[in-house]
Amino acid sequence: MDDKRISGFPELDAWAQAAYAQRDYELGYPGNQDILLRGFYEWYLANGLEVSCLNNAGDPFNEHPSVMSSQRFEREVLEFFAPLYGFTPGEFWGLVTNSGTDGNIHGIYFGASSLRCKTGREPIFYVSDEAHYSNMRLAHLQNFEVRLVKSDDMGRMIPEELERVLYPERPCLIVYAMGSTFKGAIDNQKALNAVLAKYPKMEVYRHVDAALFGGYLPFTEFKAMVNQREMGFQSISISGHKFFGTGDPAGIFLTTREVYDSQDHFNIAYINQDMKMISCSRSATVPLKYWWLIKHVGKEGWQQQAEALLANTAFLRQKFAEIGYPHWANELSNTVFFKRPAEEAVEKYHLAGSYDPRFGGELSHLVVMQHATRERIEAFVNDVKKYS
Ligand SMILES: *Cc1c(COP(=O)(O)O)cnc(C)c1O
Repeated sequence: MDDKRISGFPELDAWAQAAYAQRDYELGYPGNQDILLRGFYEWYLANGLEVSCLNNAGDPFNEHPSVMSSQRFEREVLEFFAPLYGFTPGEFWGLVTNSGTDGNIHGIYFGASSLRCKTGREPIFYVSDEAHYSNMRLAHLQNFEVRLVKSDDMGRMIPEELERVLYPERPCLIVYAMGSTFKGAIDNQKALNAVLAKYPKMEVYRHVDAALFGGYLPFTEFKAMVNQREMGFQSISISGHKFFGTGDPAGIFLTTREVYDSQDHFNIAYINQDMKMISCSRSATVPLKYWWLIKHVGKEGWQQQAEALLANTAFLRQKFAEIGYPHWANELSNTVFFKRPAEEAVEKYHLAGSYDPRFGGELSHLVVMQHATRERIEAFVNDVKKYS
């Protein structure tokens, strides 16, 4: 065995080997386990960057970034992604975040600040009952009045329910889910926007939580659904370790220049800047990984991956259909939910659970990411059948 694989700490080595072996079976969560960064890690070590403390503290659009930050590459990363989400070059702002949640933190905080700036009033926070839990945590953190909007059986926010709970006297801060956590539902932005448009005096801020689906949708014919100009949202958050394969938790947050300009100014002497973002220190390595992936995978590579992902999702549904196994999926979703299989399968494939009597009770789901090849999907369905 390669000496470098032995740390002298058996429990550490055992964990590393177990984690590597589990990769193939890790089908219940949306982390891309097909990371194309070996060349990057080699380059990083070859340049001695592992002995340095690099830090992207501060605004990536800072004109004079420190040499110890990779902000000029972070900025190029943002300039690559902004048009994919329909932001106009030169009229957007953003950052490479620590995660999808970090992007939601910024969207919800920026939304509240910009609504207060415009109206002098506290917004009401609206989100569906199927959205990711972090949105509710963030609402609590800011002590918002929350109105939870009911979703339909498949997990989509119901426009009539939004209308029912809407209080148009106060500004509206709403989060749309582009891929609800368990069922992979996409909130229908056009229909929900039509409800909001009935109250032209109400100030609205829309943040799109597109942690998972925001990765592949820009590379499909349905890209309009995550397009700022077409949908009219003010900000969007997309995870990096899900579709884009950054390996480490990461994400992209994008908003309009108008929203950015409406934030409070805090001039921070020791960073020599006006800081709009919440976190101070940020990874300098993760933006480099994004940059590397843009050069080595790029639009064409991601387009092929997006196609494969949706085709393999259809393949999974077909395999389930062949054995008559109860399963469901939303349109454009790479997440298929199904009757919870036997415990052996749940453990082997690390499946998350949920309960919904409308679908017969106990459920699990499978998230078809890049490493979910047809071979692995077929083996999975055979196991579900074998253990049931
Ligand atoms: C995964 C996910 C999150 C959380 O993102 P992290 O990158 O894990 O912090 C939030 N919302 C949705 C819709 C998600 O799929």
